[in-house]
Formats: sequence, structure tokens, C-alpha cells
Amino acid sequence: MTNRISHWIDGKPWAGVAQRTGEVFDPATGEVRARVDFAGAGQVAEAVAAASAAFPGWRDTSLAARTRIMFAFRELLAARKDDLARIVTSEHGKVLADAAGEVGRALENVEYACGAPQLLKGGYSENASRGVDVYSIAQPLGVVGVISPFNFPAMVPLWFVPNALAAGNTVVLKPSEKDPSAANFIAELFAEAGLPSGVLNVLHGDKVAVDGLLEHPDVKAISFVGSTPIARYVYEKGTGAGKRVQALGGAKNHMVVLPDADLDAAADAAVSAGFGSAGERCMAVSVVVAVDPIGDELVSKITDRMRALRVGDGRDPESEMGPLVTAAHRERVASYIDAGLAEGAELVVDGRDPGLDGGGFWLGPTLFDRVRPEMSVYTDEIFGPVLSVVRAEDYDAALALVNANHYGNGTAIFTGDGGAARRFQNEVEVGMVGVNVPIPVPVGYYSFGGWKDSLFGDSHAYGPEGFHFFTRRKVVTSRWPSAPSPQAGAASQSGV
Ligand code: NAD
Repeated sequence: MTNRISHWIDGKPWAGVAQRTGEVFDPATGEVRARVDFAGAGQVAEAVAAASAAFPGWRDTSLAARTRIMFAFRELLAARKDDLARIVTSEHGKVLADAAGEVGRALENVEYACGAPQLLKGGYSENASRGVDVYSIAQPLGVVGVISPFNFPAMVPLWFVPNALAAGNTVVLKPSEKDPSAANFIAELFAEAGLPSGVLNVLHGDKVAVDGLLEHPDVKAISFVGSTPIARYVYEKGTGAGKRVQALGGAKNHMVVLPDADLDAAADAAVSAGFGSAGERCMAVSVVVAVDPIGDELVSKITDRMRALRVGDGRDPESEMGPLVTAAHRERVASYIDAGLAEGAELVVDGRDPGLDGGGFWLGPTLFDRVRPEMSVYTDEIFGPVLSVVRAEDYDAALALVNANHYGNGTAIFTGDGGAARRFQNEVEVGMVGVNVPIPVPVGYYSFGGWKDSLFGDSHAYGPEGFHFFTRRKVVTSRWPSAPSPQAGAASQSGV
């Protein structure tokens, strides 16, 4: 019998019968490992009603109590991190080391949220005018929706959920329908940590669930992460309905390699950032920009390393790259290899037949050289193990290429020249920049976000901007009579 994965509403699994369900695969075998319930309008209403009902109590729960629950969750997550990593690998396919890395980055955000008492402090100005004090307070928004993509089923929900909860909001989380189990595991751990019922709910499904959250008047804000077309749609529809929205989209991340770079380090970085998690990372390097004259040498070093990469079941500790998430995604990614060849790019390593048995969604690491900006392998976010090398004649040409791209999530420069790196960080139109670091995902006490078509809205995710997103500020201007009141006088005389 196939396992069933269902919603988590009001502190327990949903007991109804779903009218629609989706298949959840084991990407390494191609087998259906479970079916996940898809929410209809009724379940959206149930989840939001549970979160709305829980809000007044949670908002008024003391900071000390809220923070203790966050610390307890942190301990449980740290203790169970391998279990969560195994769940991620079984539905996403990434190797266990990648899945464990994802949980580690998630933990950073939980730890940040444990600082809520400090983060929620307001300001106080005594005697702004004579006898008048002015102070600010930060309050939660109410029910917030978190909608996450398939590629980080544990980390992306935990970019948002801990901060939202610590700030006093209640949450409806709608994870990707492709790998839904991590979200339920997280909700159960929160319940074990003492989070009251209804404060965190998980709603599974597709566009119907997303639209339901975007249209529901009691949902005050939406944090979304996914592809650019859907991010734009969510941003426009959500803000049109008067909600606060941050919507993070897709990417095409360039790694610029200057001639003075350490080419071995650059090749290592290109391979780990290009093919880690099978390229299914929004911060994956998908374009290497080789600045003349080092192109041939760099391509040769990258090729050597790619040929040594071990592709296999993510549960096997020997594997360095797992399968793609679904058969449909594998076909889409493979179609770009055909397109690149047809458009005249030079196929240096062809991953279309990685030589693995079984029904897994396999695609080997693939490298194109002499890619030009008009080719679809360059223009489109492929989101798979296909790396393109573009040759640039000098630094200015490389910079112009990066800045002309409509995505602006992450980028990196590899160089031994501090002046060139400093110029790049100043001139590049991208939200997250690495200097000799290929995947510059900010630590949890900074904030994560791209520019241009990689983010809609003005708040980046997690860290200070994330906390800001989940609160609204109020400023109080107050005047009290300066003479002690009779009661205060009586109290001081009685020694209270
Ligand atoms: P996706 O856009 O297909 O799905 C994201 C979420 O939106 C899922 O929960 C999905 O159920 C929902 N959704 C899908 N189609 C919808 C529709 N028509 N209407 C409303 N909701 C819909 O993205 P994905 O394939 O799950 O994830 C990969 C994408 O996410 C890539 O483009 C990647 O770059 C991006 N991503 C971005 C970041 C970032 O921080 N910028 C991080 C991770 C992933």
C-alpha cells in the first residue's frame, strides 16, 4: 500500500479524504513512494481558521515562553538532523551530505530566531517634548503564508517559519508537492517542542492551495520561494489583495574567473557549485565566465574533475551527485542539452547517458563550452547539472555580461587581485556576491535575496530583513501628569 502524506492542521494530521492527490517519487528508483493530499478550498479555509484561532493566544504568549519553545525546537532539530536529512534525500534525491548541509543551514535560522527578545526591542526617547515620551513597538502581522520550492524542502521553510513564529505570528506552510514530508516532520518537531496547536499548520497541494492563501482575507503576508514566473504571479496577486509579499524567484548565477585566479581552486568551485545537488540550487553556478586567455586551461581542469564525479543513489555515501527530482524535470533538463548542440555550443561532457541502471531520474554532469548569450542554455534557468562556459575578452566584457542578465541572485569572482574583486563587488548588479567563494549564501544573521527578476518585493529572506518582514512597527507618543498620583503616593508610603 502506498503511504499517504496529508495536511497538518491544528496540531494533528488532517483526517478527511482528499479529492485530489499527487505522486511523490523516490528519484533514485523512479518508484512512487507515497501519495500526497492536495488541498481544496475547504482545507485552505480549515488551515487558515486554525491559524487565526491560535493567533490571539500566541501573540500574547510571553517572549520568554515563545523563545523557550524555539530553543527546545533547536535542540530537537539538532538531535534529529540525520532523520530529516534522510527524508530529504528519499524524496528529493540529493546526496545525504548535501541534505545534512541543508539542515545545518536551516539550524542557523532557528538559532537566529532564538534571539527574538533582542530582535523585538523597540526604541524609547524620553522627553521628546517636555513631559512627552516617544517609543516604538514591534508587533506580529497575524496569519502568514509560507510557500516553498522542491529544492530545499527543509531549509527554505525554516528560512521563514522560525522568525515568523518567534515574532508572534501564526503560519500556514505550503511546501512543494514534490517532496512534502520534510514539512510534516518539522511541524511534528515543533509540536514536540511545545508549540501550541494551530500556531503552525502545513497545507499540501498545488496552485489551488497557493491561490487559496493569496485570496484569503485573513492571510496578512506571504513569503514565497520558487521560479520567477510564479514568484512574479504571487507577488502581483498577493499585493493586489493588500498583503505584504516577499517573492524570491529563479537565477542564472555567473562565476567570473580572471586570468590571475588560482585555476585549480576555481575548477573545484565550478564543479561543486555547478553539480552539487545536481544543479538544483538557486545559488548553483550555471555559467562560468572565463576571461581570456585562461579558457582552455580552465575547461580542461573542470572536465577532469567532472569525469571523476560519482553519480548514484543519494543514500550511498560514495555518491557525490544524485538523480533529478522527477522524470519530467529530467526530460526538461536533458532537452537543453539537445538545444545547446543544435544552437552550436561545444558539448565537452555529455551527461545524457550516465550508465546507471534502474528507473531513477539520472542525468550526468554536462559541460558546454563557447556558449553565446543568445543560446537557450544561457538565457534560461535550466536547474540541473548543465554548466555553460562563456568566454570573455576582459573584465569589462565579463561584468557587462553578468549585468545584462535579467536574473541577479548570486555571482562570484575568482581572482588573486583584491582591487579587481573590490571593483566587482561595487559594480555588479547582483544581490549576493562571492569573492573566491562560489555559493555566497549569507549566514543566518545577514539576509538572503537577489536583485532584478530574482526577487519581487523589498524584503530579503531571514536575518534582520526577515524579522522586519514579519513585524509591523507602532510608535507611541505619550504624556503623563508629572505629579505622583494619590495611589502612587499611597503605594510608596506602604513600602510597595
Ligand atoms: P515552482 O515555482 O514550480 O514552485 C514553487 C512553489 O509554487 C511550490 O510550492 C509550488 O507548489 C507552487 N506553484 C507551482 N506552480 C504554481 C502556480 N502555477 N501557481 C501558484 N503556485 C504554484 O518552483 P520549484 O520548481 O519548486 O523550485 C525551483 C525554482 O525555485 C527555481 O527556479 C529556483 O531558482 C527557485 N528557487 C529560488 C530560491 C531563491 O532564494 N531565490 C531558492 C530556492 C529555489
